[in-house]
Amino acid sequence: MQVQGFPAQRYPLQSNSLRRRWFVTAALAGVIALVFSGCGGGGKATGTPVGVQNKPTFAAGTTMARLAEAGKVTVGTKFDQPLFGLKGLDGKVTGFDVEIAKIISAGLGINESAITFVETPSSQREGAIQQGKVDFVVATYTINDKRRQLVSFAGPYYQAGQDIMVKKENTTITGPESLRTAKAKVCSVSGSTPAEKIKEYVDASNIVLFDVYSKCADALRTGQVDAVTTDNVVLLGLADSSGGAFKLIGKPFTVEPYGIGIKKGDIAFCQFINEQLTAASTDGRYAKAWESTAGKVARTTPTLPTLGACS
Ligand code: GLU
Repeated sequence: MQVQGFPAQRYPLQSNSLRRRWFVTAALAGVIALVFSGCGGGGKATGTPVGVQNKPTFAAGTTMARLAEAGKVTVGTKFDQPLFGLKGLDGKVTGFDVEIAKIISAGLGINESAITFVETPSSQREGAIQQGKVDFVVATYTINDKRRQLVSFAGPYYQAGQDIMVKKENTTITGPESLRTAKAKVCSVSGSTPAEKIKEYVDASNIVLFDVYSKCADALRTGQVDAVTTDNVVLLGLADSSGGAFKLIGKPFTVEPYGIGIKKGDIAFCQFINEQLTAASTDGRYAKAWESTAGKVARTTPTLPTLGACS
């Protein structure tokens, strides 16, 4: 065997044993390179991340067959929620929701470079699915009966809970019950479940609604509101990027199971997505998705919740 590029005569001052040691090292490197170049398909050679299926086939007429054939997918997500869906200055979207979208797309044989992420604020999710603007939505999207009348959900893939975020120095807001006594102005987002729930604790005149949560964070920073309410993990991302200016109360008072929104009644697609989630949870991709995103701040890696029936 000849090791290319490193002829022994280039190193005339080396002893024989040194040369032999170098040869063994080079040969080993070659073996390692071969292993990583993906003997048996996939791997680095093609630039295909682990888990992307190689031309999977699906029953004709299914959403899976259509998307796999197209070789691309459009996904609705958030663009201003650190840890779950955040569009960076480089134009790339990152977060746990984005990783879940990649896992689903991988099952369709679609690489992440063929995913188009579309910003889908809370109040626009059902419409985007119904109008076919997106193939599915992964956007901190709570599964509930009201939404189930308009769309179907795969999952849940995570369970959050509504919480409250205030300025670091605030000591008067200690939970939802304290909001009325503190005469607090509370910010949330239109079309979200927390915006509905908070009505039980705050007079309508003290609720401020925006279209996205980053605007609530701005309003808290400038003192236009006293608190922001939504899911704990959404608040965690905002608090983490506030440079210590905000804190969470840390007492979740609802249960928010996150689903993947799809066209109503697309049971085969729902079952397919659930299979991808189960596979990713078994082979470690689910945990890895968490650890590389939200897990950097929320240290406990969740396990995949029990999946719901597709309807
Ligand atoms: N999970 C809640 C919802 O789906 C709040 C987070 C959000 O607005 O995306 O409404």
